[in-house]
Amino acid sequence: MANIDYSYFISPHASRRRPALTRELTKRAYAVKDTISLAEGMPNEVTFPFEKMQISLKDGSTLTLQGQQLNAALQYIPTQGYPPLVKTLKEFTQRVHQPPNWQDRELLVTNGSQDGISKSIELCIQEGEPILVQNPLYTGTEIVLKPYKAELLPVDHDEFGMSAQKLVNVLEDRKAKYTEEGGGWKMPKLLYVNPTGSNPAGTTMPAERRKEIYNICCKYNILILEDDPYCFMHFLDENPPSFLSLDTEGRVLRFDSLSKVLSSGLRMGWVTGPKQIIANIELHIQSSYLHSSTLSQVITENLFQAWGYDKFMEHLDFVRKYYRARRDLTVDSMERHLKGLCEWTVPTGGMFVWIKVHGVSDVYDMLMSRGLKKGITFVPGHAFMADPTKACNYIRASYSKAAPKQIEKAMKLLAELIREEHLL
Ligand code: PMP
Repeated sequence: MANIDYSYFISPHASRRRPALTRELTKRAYAVKDTISLAEGMPNEVTFPFEKMQISLKDGSTLTLQGQQLNAALQYIPTQGYPPLVKTLKEFTQRVHQPPNWQDRELLVTNGSQDGISKSIELCIQEGEPILVQNPLYTGTEIVLKPYKAELLPVDHDEFGMSAQKLVNVLEDRKAKYTEEGGGWKMPKLLYVNPTGSNPAGTTMPAERRKEIYNICCKYNILILEDDPYCFMHFLDENPPSFLSLDTEGRVLRFDSLSKVLSSGLRMGWVTGPKQIIANIELHIQSSYLHSSTLSQVITENLFQAWGYDKFMEHLDFVRKYYRARRDLTVDSMERHLKGLCEWTVPTGGMFVWIKVHGVSDVYDMLMSRGLKKGITFVPGHAFMADPTKACNYIRASYSKAAPKQIEKAMKLLAELIREEHLL
């Protein structure tokens, strides 16, 4: 790894975090088995009303939690996560991404990837600081940045995701201002990117683009926040490399999620990154929710064990094909109804299509008043723009849940709506 000074990325408030002794002892209790501990504030499981939990899987098998394992699932655990699951996730991450210099990295279980994103931003950013963001941008990131009054430096995308050339332009522009005004402008330290099946644009960055962006970040000393919940939902022939897998320098914080492939209700995510950064996020979790749900983690771990790597990967393949088929039928409906009225890039991953409407300068009222009255809901593109106050003629449509007939009807009604809007 390069000799990165991580204190440059860690904000003063985050650097003041200190470990809670009680949490440290819980960690020790898991690691060292043969001590008599009167230290932990763990309730005694005999008082809990649960005897046995059984979950039937769609493949006909059953996950059963009872005895010691049920007790473990109902108990406090170390902040990093349920130790057997942490081990499994490490093996999984190594196998899938093969990150260079694994010994310098750590991972930590979070309440979905959203939690990892918000804790990481909280860790790094101070009020008013700039951050480079993919534009259009996932709303969940934008709302994390709001309270910090962060200065969003939008980097526009093309059909392959964030544009490397635009990223250089934004950085060079910034550097010129920084130099001309004697350091009065701050250089961005962070880049937020959603490389696969991006929300809302549906783009997936090819390998070359990822490498270009990674190299630019090395040049400008930028920490990359790789938000990749749709990484197993791309529709390309080959898996594009993650930023983590390219990270020879130790400047990637990667957010993973099982929300889209196992269950969003389990709230299972994890963040992988340089040890020093992960340690700080761990301190933050110690002071917020102690650790994410043990029950969810034990269920996930049991599923991993029951299936093994190959069956898990088969499931991911099933998910990928499911969404690809839905993408196809959605794009067919759009071809039938929206041709000439709108344009779009066929999504290469995820569950959204980003639609540009012709002849309407701002879609907000059209969707939020007349659209809702017609019985169709789409998200106006404003929600994803670095500057949501500007007029916007983009729409985000999701193809994940509505039945094919409903998708067809929605596209037909959208076409009607746009035609009516043209006449207003
Ligand atoms: N990032 C992106 C781009 C998303 O679309 C979502 C879910 N909408 C998340 C993060 C958060 O996912 P979760 O917290 O469920 O893992």
